[in-house]
Amino acid sequence: MNHRTPRDPVHRRGASAGSVLRAVLEHGPVPRSTIARLTGLSPASVSGHTAELAEQSFIREMSETTRAKAVGRPHVPVDLDLSGYVVASVHIAVPHTTIALLDLRGRVLVRHQEPHLQPEPLAVVSRASEILARLLAEHAAGRTPLGLGVATGGWIDREAGVLVEHPLLGWQDVALRDQFAERTGLLAEADGHSRALLLAERLFGSARGRSSVMHLFIGNVVDAAFAAGESVHYGPRSQAGAIAHLPLAGNTEPCFCGRTGCLQAAVSEQSLARRAFAEGIITEPEFPLLLETARYGDPSALRLFTERARHIGRATAMLTDVFGPELVVIVEPGVMFLPGTLSALHEEMRAHAWSPPPDVTRAVVPTGFEPDSILAIAGGAVILDALYRDPLRLLAEHERAYSASQRCIHI
Ligand SMILES: [Zn+2]
Repeated sequence: MNHRTPRDPVHRRGASAGSVLRAVLEHGPVPRSTIARLTGLSPASVSGHTAELAEQSFIREMSETTRAKAVGRPHVPVDLDLSGYVVASVHIAVPHTTIALLDLRGRVLVRHQEPHLQPEPLAVVSRASEILARLLAEHAAGRTPLGLGVATGGWIDREAGVLVEHPLLGWQDVALRDQFAERTGLLAEADGHSRALLLAERLFGSARGRSSVMHLFIGNVVDAAFAAGESVHYGPRSQAGAIAHLPLAGNTEPCFCGRTGCLQAAVSEQSLARRAFAEGIITEPEFPLLLETARYGDPSALRLFTERARHIGRATAMLTDVFGPELVVIVEPGVMFLPGTLSALHEEMRAHAWSPPPDVTRAVVPTGFEPDSILAIAGGAVILDALYRDPLRLLAEHERAYSASQRCIHI
């Protein structure tokens, strides 16, 4: 699905409908006259798009005196209609899968975390699909599931919908998109989780309206993503953003790739938990336990998170020298929960970037998303981004997927 390079008139029309829908998301309730100013589209064109979007239950007119969903007068505000649709989300992490439903504002309606008893791809996909069916039956409240977004770490080829490689899960060439589409009957899309969260930050988070943004995801897997203007960079086979093996000076941690000093080996949750366990800071080599210990103020645990933040700061310095993003958003529990570690990261940025941003504390920030919701948002954002680029096209693809699945069921 190539929704990033609209060329023909139908795609241009869809892209304009997308910019109208994004204006409603960002500014709603908003009158159509303002949408015309915000998008640069003509009033007639905005009027046409809002009528079509209302017809499809994406937006509604905010007037009690007007018939529901009738959209006509230019000064009556319109807003998102949250009663028509939900999007489904699956995020596959190393120890567990998160399955969730989101509304069109990217808010998590319900979330379930399922540990990996059998981390084989088929078992994980089947179990997640079963749980998703239950969540839809119990929590969608009559709303139509518009599609399923799947996010995970490692290398995901977005166009092919294939997880090319996830060394920590030991997965290779898994057709995630098609396997989920087949099991759920939903339109499905898959993307890497750093890129998925970058999409989410641009739609619902702190990157909204920024001209360029870089996203760093530091978990067990370490990934980056970059966007400039409207364009999110994918590269051939969506390979961009693989920073796991970026060499870091002064780091001697051995990496599974055979070298030493790779970023991921230094900062992954597994490495940190292993080191903390070996040093007797925690009684089990479990990352959540280490984070809890640091949050209680244990100085040794805090020291490990500060070292981690310094490694991330040095990597961020290199990456910002290359890309010069206006904003860097980081998902990493240390900088999200332990304020001292964020200062260490900023200090390292200032010391190592050739041309650091004038105010590092505003240019490099932790995500503003609720920590418990981040993984659910990552999956959902894969579909929500497609929706806000071209809602009518997504709806048409959803209807095709849905009718195909109904045919399969009745045969
Ligand atoms: Zn390596």
